[in-house]
Amino acid sequence: MNSKSIPRIDHIYLDRNAARSPLAKRILRTLRGIPVTLVTNKNAFLKKIEKIPLTTGKRNLWLTNFKGAFLKPCPATGTDYLCCGYRILNAQTHCPLDCTYCILQNYLNVPLITVYVNTGNIAREIDTLIASEPRRLFRMGTGELTDSLALDRLTRLNETLIRHVLGKKMILEIKTKTAQIDHLPEIPKKNVLISWSLNPDAFIRTEEHRTVSLEVRLKAARKALKKGYRLGFHFDPLLMLPGWKKQYAELLEKLTSAVPEKEVMWISLGSLRYPSSLKKVIEERFPKTKITTAEFVKGLDGKMRYFRPERVGLYRHVYSEVRKRWKDVFVYFCMENSTVWREVTGDAPEGNDHLDYLFHESLVRRFPDLKLPAPGLSLYRQTAS
Ligand code: SF4
Repeated sequence: MNSKSIPRIDHIYLDRNAARSPLAKRILRTLRGIPVTLVTNKNAFLKKIEKIPLTTGKRNLWLTNFKGAFLKPCPATGTDYLCCGYRILNAQTHCPLDCTYCILQNYLNVPLITVYVNTGNIAREIDTLIASEPRRLFRMGTGELTDSLALDRLTRLNETLIRHVLGKKMILEIKTKTAQIDHLPEIPKKNVLISWSLNPDAFIRTEEHRTVSLEVRLKAARKALKKGYRLGFHFDPLLMLPGWKKQYAELLEKLTSAVPEKEVMWISLGSLRYPSSLKKVIEERFPKTKITTAEFVKGLDGKMRYFRPERVGLYRHVYSEVRKRWKDVFVYFCMENSTVWREVTGDAPEGNDHLDYLFHESLVRRFPDLKLPAPGLSLYRQTAS
C-alpha cells in the first residue's frame, strides 16, 4: 500500500476490548511503526481526551467497538424540514479532512478519528432493514459522520459493503471530497454510486482544507464511472461568498461537461447551516474564514441559515444552472421546508414519505436496468391522503 494514500496518523489508541478484532489487527499492521496505547479503562480515557483540540485529534486514531445499531435514520428525520428517508451507516466518526463548516466540530464528544472495528454485523443490519419493508427502496450511505473514502484504504469498509449490496434492492452511496477510489473494486454498473460534494475551487481553497480540487474530484468521478459506479453530486453547503453567482455557474458548466447526466442518480442542494454554538469554534479554528460573516436566521431546528429570500435566490440560481443543462436528473433540497421547495421549483413534496417515493419513482424510470420494483403507491398515499 502506498503510504501517501493514508492520511498522517501520529498515534493510535486501541480499546482493549477491540484488540482482537481482525480489522483492528489489520489497521495496526498497516500502520506499523506508529505508537499505540492500549486503553484499559475506556471511560477514563474518553474523559481525558475530551478536551484535546480537534486539530490534534484529526491526527489520532481511536479503535474501539460500537454498541448498538450501525444503521440509523438520517438525523434530519423527525425535524421540521423535509427529509428524504435516507439511512446512514456510521462505522467511523470524524475525518482527516478539515472543512471550516464541518458540523462534527462540536457535534461529537470524542475529538479523535474513531473507527469502530466490530463491523461484522452491518451486512445483517442491511438485510434486515430491506426485508422489513420489501416495497420500499432504501437509500443509505457511509458519509454522514465522516468522509466515506478519506480513510477507506486503511479500513476497506466500503469494499465489503459494496460486495454485499451489489444487485440488492437498495442503493448504496459513498460520499467523498477525495479522489481515493483506486482501491475500490471494479463492479458491474448497478446500485452503488459514489458521490462528490462540490464547491468552486476558490471556496474549496479557503473552506475545505486537505480536500482535493474540483478538477481532481471530477476526474475521479469519470474514473469511478469506468469502474462501474454511478454518480451523485452534492452542492452542500452552498456558500454565499464573494462572487458566488459566477462561481456556481462556472462549476455547473464544468460538472455537466465532465460527466453524462444519465449516470447521475441525484443532485442535492443545501445551503450553509450550523448550530449557533459552532460559530465560536469555526472562528477560533479558522480565523480567516468568511463563512460566518453573513447574516443568518435561526431555523426551527436551532441551526443558523441564510435568510429565506437569500436562500431562495441562491437555490434558484444553482437550480436553474442545473436545469439549463440537465433536464432529467433528480434534484432535491437537503433539510429545507416546502415553501422553499415551491418557490424554487414551483412544486414541493407533500411530506417525507412522498419525497422518499419521488426518489424511488425517479430511479425506477431513469435506471430501468436496475429492475427495481415499481414504487408502492400506498406508500405515497399514506402521506398524500
Ligand atoms: S469531509 Fe465532511 S466530515 Fe470531513 S471535515 Fe469535511 S464536512 Fe467534516
